[in-house]
Amino acid sequence: MSLAELRREPVNLTELRREAEKASKDLEGATKALEQRRAQVRTSQKELTAKLRELQVAERAFAQVRQPLSDIVGQLYQQSMSSGLAGFLSGKSDAATLRAMADVSQVVAARDQVLAESSRLQAERERLAAEAQELRAGNLLAEAQMGAEIETLRVRSDKIVKSLTQALVKLGVKVDKGGQPAAGCAPTKALSANEFANGLIPKAYLCPLQQPGNELRGDAALAFISLNEAYRRQFGRPICVTDSYRSLAEQQSVYYRRPGFAAVPGRSNHGLGLAVDLCGGVQNFRSAQFNWLESNGKKFGWFHPKWAYISPFEPWHWEYDPKLGSLL
Ligand SMILES: [Zn+2]
Repeated sequence: MSLAELRREPVNLTELRREAEKASKDLEGATKALEQRRAQVRTSQKELTAKLRELQVAERAFAQVRQPLSDIVGQLYQQSMSSGLAGFLSGKSDAATLRAMADVSQVVAARDQVLAESSRLQAERERLAAEAQELRAGNLLAEAQMGAEIETLRVRSDKIVKSLTQALVKLGVKVDKGGQPAAGCAPTKALSANEFANGLIPKAYLCPLQQPGNELRGDAALAFISLNEAYRRQFGRPICVTDSYRSLAEQQSVYYRRPGFAAVPGRSNHGLGLAVDLCGGVQNFRSAQFNWLESNGKKFGWFHPKWAYISPFEPWHWEYDPKLGSLL
């Protein structure tokens, strides 16, 4: 059978998986962009507020001296004008009068400076307040737009996961009792499953196979289901599975019951949800089933590891390689 024929499934899980991965990545990217923008806006708002507060303090300080200074200027002006005028009229403006007039012009200059600085500060404060207002308004608009975009992406992502779930159901995979998508089948869960220790992956991070009671990590499961469909077309029946994901407790139990037949608990790929033990002929080295899987499995990311050919010799043990799978 050609690869094209093998791939001819009623539904293309690989394609759905890829779409779901992309949708979720887009959603994640948009959400991150919004968060970054919010952080930036928070920072610039904080800076603006601090600057406004500084300006207010300075303005208040100037306002406090402005009035008394103006009053002094007024008084001095009147005094010196009258005395200066008197001196001028009498024809003898003495040194004291001239000094007094010089003092007055100094005070006047100081007052003018205070007034100028006051209005400069006020203008600056008004400009900043307008800027803050603009920032707030612009930001509200941008956030609304980004929020709408995120919502669209979320809807799309949900829709794809739903199609994927429907495809799985059609292929005979059991979903939750409530008809909810098996969360562990969502392709994005596969990477999160990495965070759990060998044999300690929670149920919500595993995806059921068509073979009842068997589960694998999401990406491995989807690939296995596709492989199973190709196998079914070739042999007229599904792949026989004896074992798939194995919890730590199960690994220990197998290890002590059948020493030498299972990896050291906590070290098996079964505990990562990336390995299956097969029956129905595959367990017999060089059987038609074994040979078929050997030459076709890789197209689905599944392979027979080198060690399993020799030590321990385990024709039934097959593994999923996420690197191979992600190339599909
Ligand atoms: Zn095994």
